[in-house]
Formats: sequence, structure tokens, C-alpha cells
Amino acid sequence: MAMTQPAPAPSAVHEGILRRQSLRESSARTYARSLPIVPVRARGLTIEGADGRRYLDCLSGAGTLALGHNHPVVLEAIKKVIDSGAPLHVLDLATPVKDAFITELYATLPEEFARDARIQFCGPAGTDAVEAAIKLVRTATGRSGLLAFTGAYHGMTAGALDASGGATEVRVTRLPFPRSYRCPFGVGGERGAELGARWTESLLDDPKSGVAAPAAMMLEPVQGEGGVIPAPDSWMRRMREITAARSIPLIADEVQTGVGRTGAFWAVEHSGIVPDVMVLSKAIGGSLPLAVIVYRSGLDAWQPGAHAGTFRGNQLAMAAGAATLAFVRENRLAERARTLGARMLAGLRALARAHPCVGDVRGRGLMIGVELVAPDAATGDTAPPAPELAAAVRQECLNRGLIIELGGRHSAVVRLLPPLTLTDEQAVAVLDRFADAMVAAERSARRGGVGVQPH
Ligand code: PMP
Repeated sequence: MAMTQPAPAPSAVHEGILRRQSLRESSARTYARSLPIVPVRARGLTIEGADGRRYLDCLSGAGTLALGHNHPVVLEAIKKVIDSGAPLHVLDLATPVKDAFITELYATLPEEFARDARIQFCGPAGTDAVEAAIKLVRTATGRSGLLAFTGAYHGMTAGALDASGGATEVRVTRLPFPRSYRCPFGVGGERGAELGARWTESLLDDPKSGVAAPAAMMLEPVQGEGGVIPAPDSWMRRMREITAARSIPLIADEVQTGVGRTGAFWAVEHSGIVPDVMVLSKAIGGSLPLAVIVYRSGLDAWQPGAHAGTFRGNQLAMAAGAATLAFVRENRLAERARTLGARMLAGLRALARAHPCVGDVRGRGLMIGVELVAPDAATGDTAPPAPELAAAVRQECLNRGLIIELGGRHSAVVRLLPPLTLTDEQAVAVLDRFADAMVAAERSARRGGVGVQPH
């Protein structure tokens, strides 16, 4: 008779999976390194690991989970498609599920934009939509160059990487993204942003600037990976004026800022601008992979098949996405993100007063960043960034059951991207754990374990 083996202890399962991951998966893996957890269950803000530990997830799939994990309306939408017997894969064919998704998406978009818009379903990642947008404007304008910004992040495929701030050997003109903290012009605020706008104008109008007429300007209304940097609304309007006056299409990359995250359904609504192209992904798929570009119909110069791909028809993602968009709209979660985000920023600013290592607290809605700097070093915005301290804070957060991530030029910005469904009590719990983690990380920094980086 076969003897049943006792089930391995949860901690052994956890350890075993992590060990096999490190042996078998690419050294390019990212989050898996800083967050050595093995999620087995999740609901809302909470993730449970294979070792039985529970975490408050303020990474939200890098901003994807607008409604948190496994929201009932998302699960129900997915089950409905499965139970209906609808095909799950249909290339780019029309289906009732897709039709409903487009209708819901268009209902959320700025009216003036949606009225005359075309949508293209591309490969399912944000970076695929960025590629599609670049290709579209190149076809439509017959030009090839691109205007993009310092600190930008648009993805990891070739074109998107070129447009991102880390790229150097590229056909991209790099313009200064406005930032108050560490303003390249030393003045910050609206004035700093205006100087950046003037620089942009002069490059475009000076026949000897070395900048040819570009195919488009691409920007994030709030830079996410670049360190949570909201662009002033006035600057967004200036970029719209500058590009419109020179017939340069403006691409808004709302992959991370969309679906209520910044306190408006789409971040371009804060400034009231109407872009020519919107790049959308992450939350529009309701936690499943989905990406689209939506653009002014006048740009639709593509021939049939000009931008194809096998995975453009993920029915489950469209159903989950439509349910998410509708839930955010009906429950006014953008407004909720605005008020709760403002309260969390105020809480973090109060916390910062007790911690000289906090150089800056900034954000918009529930896209929040805390920039850490070398304690006891220069004050103001010349203090060197402190990536090791930030990594220590992340680890101390994890030890306390809080998942956060880092971003920014030097990975010294702690980023909070909680779901828009975060309750007041959960927000307090997140800030409490964060405050404790700061104290612990600073203590170990004082013991000499943590260094800083030149900037
Ligand atoms: N654009 C922005 C603004 C992003 O934040 C990201 C992802 N963080 C991307 C594009 C790329 O999306 P993906 O990782 O799905 O390719």
C-alpha cells in the first residue's frame, strides 16, 4: 500500500519555488529579486504568499490593478465570457465583447478626442502600443525623428527604449521634462517649466539647432518610472500649443497614468489638452494583458495590415477591462484617488518633517513618490540621492508586510501605487507601516550599512 507523503511545510514550498526560480529564470528578472515572495492568493489590496504571510500590495502590478486583485466585477466579467462559450482568441475580428469594450473606453475618453478617434489593438503590452504609436506618426507624417523627454519611460522594445530617458545613441531629441525638485534651470515650478518650453520652441524654430522636423512629441503627463514627476498643467498646454502650431502630432503615453490613477480618468484631463494619440495599457485590461492606441482619425494613413499581430483579440482582457473602466467611472474612483491621494501626500509630508533623509514628497492622485537623499548631506534639492537607503526602506516595508517599489533616475524614489479601491483604514495602515520602515532603515543607515550615490 502506498504511503502518503506528508505535505511539505508552507515555508519549504516557498523556499523551493524561489530556489528553482533563481536557477531557471533569466538574470534579467526584476521585481522577483527585490520581492522574494510567492503569491498564491490575492484579494483587493492583499496578497498572501506560499509561506502564509500576507502583504499590502502598493505596487498593484506596476499600476495595473486599478481595482486591486481579483475584484468581484472583474472576476464576474471573465466568468461571463467563459460561460457564454465565446471564443477566447479571435485575432482582430469583431466580437460583442470587443464592441462593448470600445464603447466603454470611448465613453471615458475626453469627448472632443473620442468624437473623431480611431482605435488600434496592438500587441498586449504598453511597449507594443508605444511602438504602434511611433510607427503610426512616422507613416502619417513621413518624418522619422521623435521629441521625447529626460527621465521618460516608454517600455523595453527597441523604439520605446529609444524614446526613454536612458537611451543615447538614438534619433530622438531629448527635451527637459519639468521638475520642481532638481530643476535643471535651478528655479523649479511654473517658471522652470516655462524655461523648458522656451528651449523646446527654440530647438524647433532655429534652423541651425540640429533638430529636424519630428514625427511626433511623446510625453507622460506624470512620469512614473522617472520618479513620479507630475508635469504642470500649464506646461502640458504649452506643449500642446507648440506642437499644434508646428503640425507635430502629440502622443500622450497614459499607460501608467490612465484609468483614474492621477485623480482624473485620463491625466490629460487635468490640463484639458486634446492629444493626437493616446497610448493605453495596464489598467485598461482589468489585470489581463491589453494595449491600444487611440488616435485622431486624420492620422489613419495605415494600409491594411500595416501593423498586425496575432494577439490583438484577448476577449478575457477586453471583458475584464470594460468592467474595470465602467466600475471606475460609475464609482467616481478618479475623484476618490484625488482626495485620498492628497491626504496620503499630506501624511507623507508630515512624516518627512521628522526625516531629513526625505528630499521630496510628490505625486498626483494615487501615484505617489518619496525621494530619499543622503541624510546629513547638503539640504535642498542638491542633496545626493540615496538609492541604498531606498532599497533598505523597501526591504523594511516588506518585512512589515508592505509591498512598494522604487523608481526615479537613481532608484532613490519610493513609489506607492495602491489600488483606487483603497479604504481610509487601509491608507492609514500603509502609512503606518511605511513610517515604521523609514525609522528602521534610517537606524541601519546610521549604523553604517547604507551609502549614497553622486547625482
Ligand atoms: N509607458 C509607461 C508610461 C509605462 O509606465 C510603462 C510601464 N511601466 C510602459 C510604457 C511600458 O509598458 P509595458 O511594461 O506593459 O510594456
